[in-house]
Amino acid sequence: MARYTGSVCRICRRENLKLFLKGDRCYSDKCAFDRRSYVPGEHGQRRGRKVSDYGIQLREKQKVKRMYGLSEKQFRLFFKRADKQRGITGSNLLVMLERRLDNTVYRMGFVNSRTQGCHFVKHNHFLVNGKKVNIPSYLTKAGDVVEVREKSRKVKAIEDAMDAVVRRGLPQWLELDKDNFKASIRSLPVREDITMPIKEQLIVELYSK
Ligand code: SF4
Repeated sequence: MARYTGSVCRICRRENLKLFLKGDRCYSDKCAFDRRSYVPGEHGQRRGRKVSDYGIQLREKQKVKRMYGLSEKQFRLFFKRADKQRGITGSNLLVMLERRLDNTVYRMGFVNSRTQGCHFVKHNHFLVNGKKVNIPSYLTKAGDVVEVREKSRKVKAIEDAMDAVVRRGLPQWLELDKDNFKASIRSLPVREDITMPIKEQLIVELYSK
């Protein structure tokens, strides 16, 4: 399927939730969702439409997939891996998505959004345990240390993101050493660390049909 190239703010409005896809703008009064929190399009403001169970499950999957910036194929692969693990598939899925390197650098505050995280990882701006890693889907583990490469520390977007990290807040599973452009993973994230309103069971039901 072709990659979505339209306005990302439409995605938040479509999913009826702030997905924080645009970095700093999401925290400002320019946020499109705060201004127009209804579904985009001609019939967006129509009320009382009955949605089927399938429709509800589909929307939940789309929401999470778009939040982490994945294609359907990538998302399904993650789901399959989560399904093979012990424990609750839905929680496994969210924890694995959270451990992706593009998400981890976003959570650490080195970038302003997951999309930017994905680009910057691909462009070799980060080291994991002292080694270059340029794979956004790389899964970080407890004890890993991620740092911004020496020559990337002057990149304006990284500096701006690090200035804004306090506003966004740092999750408990991470520890940031801002002065040295380094952060470590104290422990693997758990389901409770993901505070966005997600009903992952609906995704499991959708893919189990
Ligand atoms: Fe979503 Fe951010 Fe756009 Fe607001 S500014 S609608 S949170 S992407």
